[in-house]
Amino acid sequence: MDHKPATIAVQAGRPAHEPDQPLNVPITMASTYVAGGDKEYGRYTNDSWVAFEEVLGKLEGGKALSFASGLAAIATLLDLVNDSVVVATEQSYLGTIGQLADLEARGRLTARLTDFSDTDGVVKLLKKLDGEVALVWIETPTNPGMQVADLPAIIEAAHEAGARVVVDNTFATPMLQQPLSLGADIVIHSATKFIAGHSDVLMGALVVSDEALWDVLKARRDLLGAIPGPFEAWLALRGLRTLPLRVERSAANAAALAERFAAHPAVEEVRYPGFGGMLAVVLPTAEQADLLTHSTSLWVNATSLGGVESTFERRRRWKTESATVPDGLVRLSVGVEDVDDLWDDLVQALDRLVG
Ligand SMILES: *Cc1c(COP(=O)(O)O)cnc(C)c1O
Repeated sequence: MDHKPATIAVQAGRPAHEPDQPLNVPITMASTYVAGGDKEYGRYTNDSWVAFEEVLGKLEGGKALSFASGLAAIATLLDLVNDSVVVATEQSYLGTIGQLADLEARGRLTARLTDFSDTDGVVKLLKKLDGEVALVWIETPTNPGMQVADLPAIIEAAHEAGARVVVDNTFATPMLQQPLSLGADIVIHSATKFIAGHSDVLMGALVVSDEALWDVLKARRDLLGAIPGPFEAWLALRGLRTLPLRVERSAANAAALAERFAAHPAVEEVRYPGFGGMLAVVLPTAEQADLLTHSTSLWVNATSLGGVESTFERRRRWKTESATVPDGLVRLSVGVEDVDDLWDDLVQALDRLVG
């Protein structure tokens, strides 16, 4: 039976409804298993990973594989690319850009970074590189620029050029965007963010629709060992149970805040894609942005995102952040608190900037 996401998030990945079965898969702390079965060793499988993967896979419409972090998932995937071109979103997460730059410096691939909000430009580039591109790497919305890519159009052009398509779905989550159903080949998640959702665990995942590709990625994870701990997977699954509720609330809060920011004279620009729990505001100077992030009591000045608690930061405080990101850009991860309390906390700080 096909269930809706809110049902899948709660019901999938559980033991059978039989007498004395626990409702949740218990944490198995094991580095090894008695020989003679399928499990053998703790780097190959763990019940908590499998339960987490079942739920995330069903939500994305594919088969999931869990990793120690988002970057561990990305590194394992990029390890499969040899001597070819990767066309990637220029405003991708700085760790993704960092890995591409590192691999390029070591002669493993050529990275072509481009503006994915310019659909015609990307399609033209892919036509020019026909047959040479191994992967098209799409992050949408981007972190932290909040640019959105036209997935169906770019996926079609990428496939015509003979490339596989990867979508970093960390910001949108499967509640708001299901790239596999739009034809993408691989979805990547920093499960650290909305998936786990409580700012207490680092984890990552890949999701694919092709079983043979899943086998290739699983073999690579076995080889490289970028696996999560059992406790991390258990925590991430516990968080995933409430993903639909959390995304609904944080997206509603973000929509309301985007509107209020747009009407405030201290704010130069609001970047809100119209969905999801992330937004960015641009203030005229870095100093004003720093003042905002240091003048609130509810909002926490912290990196990372997707937790139940509202956090924000000026992104260019990171030396490795792209120069395409304005100096005064503050990225906000909107939590599930009361939206009026969140706004009151922001507006007392914003008023000081124009007062
Ligand atoms: C955080 C993040 C990553 C990296 O994930 P980690 O779990 O921190 O390793 C990748 N992509 C995006 C969009 C992110 O926000």
